Amino acid sequence: MPQIQAITKRVRQFALEAGFESCGVVPIRADSGEPPELGHFAEWIAAGRAGEMGYLEARNEAGEFKRAALRNVAPWAKSVIVCAIDYNSDKPYSTEMRDPSRGWISRYAWFGNKQSGKAIDYHDAVLARLRRVEEQLQKHSAEFSGDALQTRCYVDTGPIVERVFAKYAGIGWLAKNTCVINQQYGSWLFLGTILTSIELLAEEAQKVFANPPADRCGSCTRCIEACPTGALIAPYQMDARRCISYLTIEKRGEIPEEFRVQIGNNIFGCDICQDVCPWNGHAKPNTGITGKPPREMPVTRAEEFQPREELLAPKLAEMAKLSREEFNRMFRGSPIKRAKYQGFRRNTAVAMGNSGDAAFMPFLQEMANDEDEVVAEHARWALQKITS
Ligand code: SF4
Ligand code: SF4
Repeated sequence: MPQIQAITKRVRQFALEAGFESCGVVPIRADSGEPPELGHFAEWIAAGRAGEMGYLEARNEAGEFKRAALRNVAPWAKSVIVCAIDYNSDKPYSTEMRDPSRGWISRYAWFGNKQSGKAIDYHDAVLARLRRVEEQLQKHSAEFSGDALQTRCYVDTGPIVERVFAKYAGIGWLAKNTCVINQQYGSWLFLGTILTSIELLAEEAQKVFANPPADRCGSCTRCIEACPTGALIAPYQMDARRCISYLTIEKRGEIPEEFRVQIGNNIFGCDICQDVCPWNGHAKPNTGITGKPPREMPVTRAEEFQPREELLAPKLAEMAKLSREEFNRMFRGSPIKRAKYQGFRRNTAVAMGNSGDAAFMPFLQEMANDEDEVVAEHARWALQKITS
Protein backbone atom coordinates (compact mmCIF):
# COMPACT_ATOMS: atom_id res chain seq x y z
CA MET A 1 0.00 0.00 0.00
CA PRO A 2 1.41 3.47 -0.84
CA GLN A 3 2.72 5.29 2.23
CA ILE A 4 0.13 8.07 2.13
CA GLN A 5 -2.75 5.61 1.93
CA ALA A 6 -1.46 3.63 4.89
CA ILE A 7 -0.99 6.76 6.99
CA THR A 8 -4.36 8.18 5.98
CA LYS A 9 -6.10 4.91 6.78
CA ARG A 10 -4.63 4.84 10.27
CA VAL A 11 -5.29 8.54 10.96
CA ARG A 12 -8.84 8.21 9.66
CA GLN A 13 -9.43 5.37 12.09
CA PHE A 14 -8.38 7.67 14.98
CA ALA A 15 -10.56 10.48 13.61
CA LEU A 16 -13.66 8.32 13.28
CA GLU A 17 -13.16 6.99 16.79
CA ALA A 18 -12.99 10.60 18.00
CA GLY A 19 -16.33 11.36 16.35
CA PHE A 20 -15.33 12.98 13.06
CA GLU A 21 -17.07 12.05 9.84
CA SER A 22 -14.21 12.57 7.44
CA CYS A 23 -10.46 13.01 7.55
CA GLY A 24 -7.46 13.29 5.24
CA VAL A 25 -3.75 14.07 5.23
CA VAL A 26 -2.07 16.80 3.16
CA PRO A 27 1.70 16.90 2.75
CA ILE A 28 3.78 20.05 3.10
CA ARG A 29 7.14 19.67 1.44
CA ALA A 30 9.48 22.18 -0.10
CA ASP A 31 9.57 20.10 -3.30
CA SER A 32 5.82 19.52 -3.62
CA GLY A 33 4.81 22.97 -2.55
CA GLU A 34 1.63 23.99 -0.77
CA PRO A 35 -1.91 24.34 -2.05
CA PRO A 36 -1.86 26.73 -5.01
CA GLU A 37 -4.89 28.64 -3.64
CA LEU A 38 -2.69 30.07 -0.89
CA GLY A 39 -0.88 32.06 -3.57
CA HIS A 40 -3.98 34.28 -3.90
CA PHE A 41 -4.13 35.06 -0.21
CA ALA A 42 -1.89 38.15 -0.30
CA GLU A 43 -3.88 39.47 -3.27
CA TRP A 44 -7.16 39.01 -1.34
CA ILE A 45 -5.80 40.86 1.67
CA ALA A 46 -4.30 43.62 -0.50
CA ALA A 47 -7.71 44.19 -2.09
CA GLY A 48 -9.04 44.90 1.42
CA ARG A 49 -11.54 42.04 1.24
CA ALA A 50 -10.81 40.87 4.78
CA GLY A 51 -12.47 44.03 6.13
CA GLU A 52 -11.67 44.55 9.82
CA MET A 53 -10.57 40.94 10.38
CA GLY A 54 -7.03 42.01 11.20
CA TYR A 55 -6.12 38.56 12.56
CA LEU A 56 -6.12 37.27 8.98
CA GLU A 57 -3.32 39.68 8.20
CA ALA A 58 -0.95 38.39 10.88
CA ARG A 59 2.64 38.29 9.62
CA ASN A 60 5.79 36.57 10.82
CA GLU A 61 9.05 38.35 11.67
CA ALA A 62 10.06 38.38 8.02
CA GLY A 63 6.88 40.26 7.17
CA GLU A 64 5.24 37.30 5.36
CA PHE A 65 1.57 36.47 5.87
CA LYS A 66 1.35 33.59 8.33
CA ARG A 67 -1.65 32.17 6.49
CA ALA A 68 0.01 32.30 3.08
CA ALA A 69 2.51 29.52 3.82
CA LEU A 70 2.72 27.15 6.75
CA ARG A 71 6.50 27.09 6.61
CA ASN A 72 6.27 30.73 7.80
CA VAL A 73 4.95 29.69 11.19
CA ALA A 74 5.83 26.04 11.66
CA PRO A 75 8.99 25.11 9.76
CA TRP A 76 8.90 21.69 11.45
CA ALA A 77 5.48 20.82 9.99
CA LYS A 78 5.53 18.27 7.17
CA SER A 79 1.85 17.51 6.86
CA VAL A 80 -1.60 18.67 7.88
CA ILE A 81 -4.37 16.36 9.07
CA VAL A 82 -7.79 17.81 8.34
CA CYS A 83 -10.82 16.43 10.18
CA ALA A 84 -14.45 17.30 9.47
CA ILE A 85 -17.61 16.87 11.47
CA ASP A 86 -21.08 17.15 10.00
CA TYR A 87 -23.29 19.52 12.00
CA ASN A 88 -26.40 19.41 9.87
CA SER A 89 -29.66 18.91 11.72
CA ASP A 90 -33.26 18.22 10.75
CA LYS A 91 -34.23 21.84 11.44
CA PRO A 92 -35.47 24.05 8.59
CA TYR A 93 -33.27 26.27 6.47
CA SER A 94 -33.40 30.07 6.75
CA THR A 95 -34.85 30.19 3.24
CA GLU A 96 -37.89 28.24 4.50
CA MET A 97 -38.75 30.69 7.27
CA ARG A 98 -41.39 33.30 6.48
CA ASP A 99 -42.30 34.72 9.91
CA PRO A 100 -41.23 38.42 10.00
CA SER A 101 -41.39 38.52 13.79
CA ARG A 102 -38.43 36.17 13.99
CA GLY A 103 -34.73 36.63 13.38
CA TRP A 104 -32.18 34.12 12.12
CA ILE A 105 -29.09 32.82 13.84
CA SER A 106 -26.65 30.93 11.69
CA ARG A 107 -26.88 27.17 11.97
CA TYR A 108 -23.35 26.70 13.25
CA ALA A 109 -24.11 28.74 16.38
CA TRP A 110 -27.13 26.79 17.66
CA PHE A 111 -25.46 24.12 19.70
CA GLY A 112 -25.85 23.14 23.27
CA ASN A 113 -25.19 20.02 25.28
CA LYS A 114 -28.15 17.68 25.18
CA GLN A 115 -27.76 16.76 28.83
CA SER A 116 -27.01 20.15 30.40
CA GLY A 117 -28.61 22.46 27.81
CA LYS A 118 -25.54 24.72 28.08
CA ALA A 119 -24.34 26.60 24.99
CA ILE A 120 -21.40 25.09 23.19
CA ASP A 121 -18.82 26.81 21.09
CA TYR A 122 -17.97 24.49 18.24
CA HIS A 123 -14.32 25.55 18.52
CA ASP A 124 -14.14 23.87 21.93
CA ALA A 125 -16.08 20.79 20.87
CA VAL A 126 -14.00 20.24 17.73
CA LEU A 127 -10.76 20.93 19.57
CA ALA A 128 -11.63 18.33 22.22
CA ARG A 129 -12.03 15.78 19.43
CA LEU A 130 -8.80 16.82 17.73
CA ARG A 131 -6.99 16.32 21.02
CA ARG A 132 -8.24 12.71 21.07
CA VAL A 133 -6.80 12.17 17.59
CA GLU A 134 -3.57 13.85 18.68
CA GLU A 135 -3.33 11.55 21.71
CA GLN A 136 -3.63 8.50 19.48
CA LEU A 137 -1.00 9.85 17.10
CA GLN A 138 1.40 10.36 19.98
CA LYS A 139 0.61 6.95 21.43
CA HIS A 140 1.38 5.31 18.11
CA SER A 141 4.07 7.78 17.01
CA ALA A 142 6.53 5.04 16.06
CA GLU A 143 4.22 4.11 13.17
CA PHE A 144 4.48 7.60 11.70
CA SER A 145 7.81 9.13 12.54
CA GLY A 146 11.35 8.01 13.26
CA ASP A 147 11.93 11.08 15.46
CA ALA A 148 9.73 12.47 18.18
CA LEU A 149 6.40 13.35 16.64
CA GLN A 150 5.46 17.02 16.77
CA THR A 151 1.81 18.02 16.55
CA ARG A 152 -0.30 21.17 17.00
CA CYS A 153 -4.10 21.40 16.85
CA TYR A 154 -6.10 24.31 15.46
CA VAL A 155 -9.77 25.15 15.02
CA ASP A 156 -10.14 28.40 13.07
CA THR A 157 -7.69 30.23 15.26
CA GLY A 158 -4.46 29.04 13.67
CA PRO A 159 -2.47 30.25 10.69
CA ILE A 160 -4.14 27.72 8.40
CA VAL A 161 -6.70 28.40 5.70
CA GLU A 162 -8.59 25.22 6.64
CA ARG A 163 -10.89 25.10 3.62
CA VAL A 164 -7.97 24.94 1.24
CA PHE A 165 -6.30 22.07 3.08
CA ALA A 166 -9.68 20.33 3.40
CA LYS A 167 -9.89 20.24 -0.38
CA TYR A 168 -6.54 18.48 -0.75
CA ALA A 169 -7.36 16.20 2.19
CA GLY A 170 -10.18 14.91 -0.02
CA ILE A 171 -12.97 16.18 2.23
CA GLY A 172 -14.69 18.09 -0.53
CA TRP A 173 -14.34 20.64 -3.28
CA LEU A 174 -13.99 24.39 -2.84
CA ALA A 175 -17.32 25.54 -4.14
CA LYS A 176 -18.52 28.73 -5.81
CA ASN A 177 -19.93 29.90 -2.46
CA THR A 178 -16.37 29.48 -1.08
CA CYS A 179 -17.43 26.64 1.27
CA VAL A 180 -16.07 23.11 1.23
CA ILE A 181 -18.76 20.77 -0.06
CA ASN A 182 -18.75 17.06 0.53
CA GLN A 183 -20.99 14.96 -1.72
CA GLN A 184 -22.51 13.17 1.25
CA TYR A 185 -22.66 15.84 3.96
CA GLY A 186 -23.00 19.01 1.92
CA SER A 187 -21.27 22.07 3.37
CA TRP A 188 -22.41 21.77 7.00
CA LEU A 189 -18.93 20.88 8.16
CA PHE A 190 -16.79 22.00 11.04
CA LEU A 191 -13.13 21.67 10.20
CA GLY A 192 -10.23 21.08 12.54
CA THR A 193 -6.56 20.68 11.63
CA ILE A 194 -3.52 19.08 13.19
CA LEU A 195 -0.11 20.19 12.00
CA THR A 196 2.29 17.27 12.23
CA SER A 197 5.90 16.42 11.56
CA ILE A 198 4.83 13.26 9.67
CA GLU A 199 6.70 13.35 6.36
CA LEU A 200 5.22 11.88 3.20
CA LEU A 201 7.12 10.67 0.16
CA ALA A 202 7.78 13.35 -2.46
CA GLU A 203 6.17 11.53 -5.39
CA GLU A 204 3.01 10.87 -3.36
CA ALA A 205 2.90 14.46 -2.13
CA GLN A 206 2.85 15.76 -5.68
CA LYS A 207 -0.10 13.51 -6.54
CA VAL A 208 -2.14 15.00 -3.70
CA PHE A 209 -1.96 18.49 -5.22
CA ALA A 210 -2.54 17.16 -8.70
CA ASN A 211 -5.70 15.22 -7.81
CA PRO A 212 -8.09 17.16 -5.58
CA PRO A 213 -11.77 16.10 -5.44
CA ALA A 214 -13.74 17.02 -8.56
CA ASP A 215 -15.56 20.36 -8.55
CA ARG A 216 -19.25 19.42 -8.70
CA CYS A 217 -20.73 22.92 -8.88
CA GLY A 218 -21.02 22.53 -12.63
CA SER A 219 -23.05 25.28 -14.28
CA CYS A 220 -24.99 26.04 -11.09
CA THR A 221 -24.88 29.63 -9.81
CA ARG A 222 -27.70 29.51 -7.25
CA CYS A 223 -25.57 30.74 -4.36
CA ILE A 224 -24.28 33.73 -6.30
CA GLU A 225 -27.79 34.70 -7.37
CA ALA A 226 -29.21 34.25 -3.87
CA CYS A 227 -26.59 36.26 -1.98
CA PRO A 228 -28.46 39.39 -0.88
CA THR A 229 -25.43 41.67 -0.66
CA GLY A 230 -23.45 40.58 -3.71
CA ALA A 231 -20.66 39.30 -1.45
CA LEU A 232 -19.94 36.48 -3.89
CA ILE A 233 -18.36 38.84 -6.38
CA ALA A 234 -17.53 36.01 -8.77
CA PRO A 235 -17.62 32.22 -8.59
CA TYR A 236 -15.27 31.08 -5.82
CA GLN A 237 -14.59 34.65 -4.70
CA MET A 238 -15.99 36.45 -1.69
CA ASP A 239 -15.60 40.03 -0.59
CA ALA A 240 -15.98 39.53 3.16
CA ARG A 241 -16.77 43.22 3.66
CA ARG A 242 -20.10 42.66 1.88
CA CYS A 243 -20.96 39.37 3.59
CA ILE A 244 -23.76 39.38 6.18
CA SER A 245 -21.76 36.99 8.35
CA TYR A 246 -18.98 39.55 8.55
CA LEU A 247 -21.34 42.51 8.94
CA THR A 248 -23.32 40.94 11.79
CA ILE A 249 -20.48 39.18 13.63
CA GLU A 250 -17.07 40.69 12.96
CA LYS A 251 -17.92 44.29 12.06
CA ARG A 252 -17.81 46.62 15.03
CA GLY A 253 -19.74 49.88 15.21
CA GLU A 254 -22.00 50.93 12.38
CA ILE A 255 -23.23 48.67 9.62
CA PRO A 256 -22.96 50.63 6.35
CA GLU A 257 -26.44 51.75 5.32
CA GLU A 258 -26.10 50.28 1.85
CA PHE A 259 -26.24 46.76 3.39
CA ARG A 260 -28.88 47.15 6.10
CA VAL A 261 -31.94 46.27 4.03
CA GLN A 262 -30.24 43.24 2.47
CA ILE A 263 -29.38 41.89 5.91
CA GLY A 264 -33.07 41.02 6.24
CA ASN A 265 -33.79 39.12 9.45
CA ASN A 266 -30.25 37.81 9.98
CA ILE A 267 -29.17 38.75 13.50
CA PHE A 268 -26.09 36.52 13.68
CA GLY A 269 -24.44 35.26 10.51
CA CYS A 270 -26.13 34.15 7.32
CA ASP A 271 -26.82 30.71 5.82
CA ILE A 272 -28.42 31.72 2.54
CA CYS A 273 -25.68 30.66 0.10
CA GLN A 274 -25.57 27.27 1.82
CA ASP A 275 -29.33 26.88 2.21
CA VAL A 276 -29.92 27.27 -1.53
CA CYS A 277 -27.16 24.86 -2.52
CA PRO A 278 -28.56 21.68 -4.08
CA TRP A 279 -25.86 19.63 -2.38
CA ASN A 280 -27.24 20.69 0.99
CA GLY A 281 -30.70 19.83 -0.30
CA HIS A 282 -29.44 16.27 -0.80
CA ALA A 283 -27.52 16.09 2.49
CA LYS A 284 -29.16 14.01 5.18
CA PRO A 285 -29.69 15.68 8.53
CA ASN A 286 -27.34 14.38 11.13
CA THR A 287 -29.70 14.16 14.07
CA GLY A 288 -27.25 12.03 15.94
CA ILE A 289 -29.96 10.09 17.68
CA THR A 290 -32.93 9.16 15.56
CA GLY A 291 -31.89 9.83 11.96
CA LYS A 292 -30.34 7.41 9.57
CA PRO A 293 -26.63 7.61 10.34
CA PRO A 294 -24.30 8.69 7.52
CA ARG A 295 -22.13 5.91 6.17
CA GLU A 296 -18.99 6.54 8.19
CA MET A 297 -20.65 7.72 11.38
CA PRO A 298 -19.13 6.29 14.51
CA VAL A 299 -21.31 5.00 17.31
CA THR A 300 -20.14 7.77 19.65
CA ARG A 301 -22.20 10.45 17.92
CA ALA A 302 -21.87 14.00 19.22
CA GLU A 303 -24.30 14.87 21.95
CA GLU A 304 -22.80 18.34 22.00
CA PHE A 305 -23.99 19.19 18.50
CA GLN A 306 -27.68 19.21 19.34
CA PRO A 307 -29.49 22.43 18.32
CA ARG A 308 -30.95 24.56 21.12
CA GLU A 309 -34.59 25.10 20.17
CA GLU A 310 -34.59 28.66 21.53
CA LEU A 311 -31.96 29.68 18.97
CA LEU A 312 -33.89 28.45 15.94
CA ALA A 313 -35.45 31.59 14.49
CA PRO A 314 -35.78 33.40 17.83
CA LYS A 315 -38.46 36.04 18.31
CA LEU A 316 -36.94 39.45 17.67
CA ALA A 317 -38.92 40.95 20.54
CA GLU A 318 -37.35 38.43 22.95
CA MET A 319 -33.87 39.19 21.66
CA ALA A 320 -34.42 42.96 21.93
CA LYS A 321 -35.46 42.59 25.57
CA LEU A 322 -32.27 40.81 26.66
CA SER A 323 -30.32 42.78 29.24
CA ARG A 324 -26.54 42.61 29.10
CA GLU A 325 -26.59 40.09 31.97
CA GLU A 326 -29.21 37.94 30.26
CA PHE A 327 -27.27 38.07 27.00
CA ASN A 328 -24.12 36.96 28.79
CA ARG A 329 -25.97 34.17 30.58
CA MET A 330 -27.84 32.93 27.52
CA PHE A 331 -24.78 32.90 25.27
CA ARG A 332 -22.06 31.97 27.74
CA GLY A 333 -19.73 29.63 25.89
CA SER A 334 -21.51 30.26 22.58
CA PRO A 335 -19.95 31.73 19.41
CA ILE A 336 -22.78 34.30 19.48
CA LYS A 337 -20.84 36.22 22.09
CA ARG A 338 -18.40 37.15 19.34
CA ALA A 339 -20.92 39.72 18.04
CA LYS A 340 -20.90 41.27 21.53
CA TYR A 341 -23.93 42.77 23.22
CA GLN A 342 -23.73 45.98 21.21
CA GLY A 343 -23.50 44.15 17.88
CA PHE A 344 -26.31 41.75 18.73
CA ARG A 345 -28.69 44.59 19.67
CA ARG A 346 -27.63 46.58 16.62
CA ASN A 347 -28.41 43.57 14.41
CA THR A 348 -31.74 43.01 16.14
CA ALA A 349 -32.73 46.64 15.51
CA VAL A 350 -31.89 46.29 11.82
CA ALA A 351 -33.92 43.07 11.53
CA MET A 352 -36.88 44.73 13.28
CA GLY A 353 -36.72 47.61 10.81
CA ASN A 354 -36.57 45.20 7.90
CA SER A 355 -39.68 43.36 9.16
CA GLY A 356 -41.74 46.51 8.52
CA ASP A 357 -43.86 45.48 11.52
CA ALA A 358 -45.18 48.42 13.54
CA ALA A 359 -45.50 46.13 16.57
CA PHE A 360 -41.73 46.57 17.02
CA MET A 361 -41.97 50.34 17.34
CA PRO A 362 -42.13 50.43 21.17
CA PHE A 363 -38.94 48.33 21.36
CA LEU A 364 -37.21 50.48 18.78
CA GLN A 365 -38.28 53.73 20.45
CA GLU A 366 -36.67 52.52 23.65
CA MET A 367 -33.55 51.42 21.81
CA ALA A 368 -33.39 54.78 20.01
CA ASN A 369 -32.67 56.33 23.42
CA ASP A 370 -30.06 53.73 24.30
CA GLU A 371 -26.91 55.04 25.91
CA ASP A 372 -24.98 53.16 23.24
CA GLU A 373 -25.02 55.46 20.23
CA VAL A 374 -24.46 52.61 17.75
CA VAL A 375 -27.58 50.79 18.98
CA ALA A 376 -29.53 54.06 19.13
CA GLU A 377 -28.61 55.06 15.57
CA HIS A 378 -29.61 51.66 14.13
CA ALA A 379 -32.89 51.81 16.07
CA ARG A 380 -33.62 55.27 14.61
CA TRP A 381 -32.88 53.90 11.14
CA ALA A 382 -35.25 50.98 11.81
CA LEU A 383 -38.03 53.28 13.03
CA GLN A 384 -37.71 55.37 9.91
CA LYS A 385 -37.81 52.23 7.80
CA ILE A 386 -41.07 51.09 9.44
CA THR A 387 -42.78 54.48 9.34
CA SER A 388 -41.78 55.20 5.77
S1 SF4 B 1 -23.18 34.13 3.92
FE1 SF4 B 1 -24.92 35.34 3.09
S2 SF4 B 1 -24.05 37.34 2.62
FE2 SF4 B 1 -22.32 35.94 2.90
S3 SF4 B 1 -21.86 35.21 0.85
FE3 SF4 B 1 -23.31 33.75 1.70
S4 SF4 B 1 -25.34 34.49 1.09
FE4 SF4 B 1 -23.88 36.15 0.77
S1 SF4 C 1 -25.28 26.63 -5.02
FE1 SF4 C 1 -24.49 25.70 -6.88
S2 SF4 C 1 -22.72 26.94 -7.44
FE2 SF4 C 1 -23.23 27.42 -5.33
S3 SF4 C 1 -21.93 26.10 -4.13
FE3 SF4 C 1 -23.86 25.01 -4.40
S4 SF4 C 1 -23.57 23.76 -6.25
FE4 SF4 C 1 -21.93 25.27 -6.20
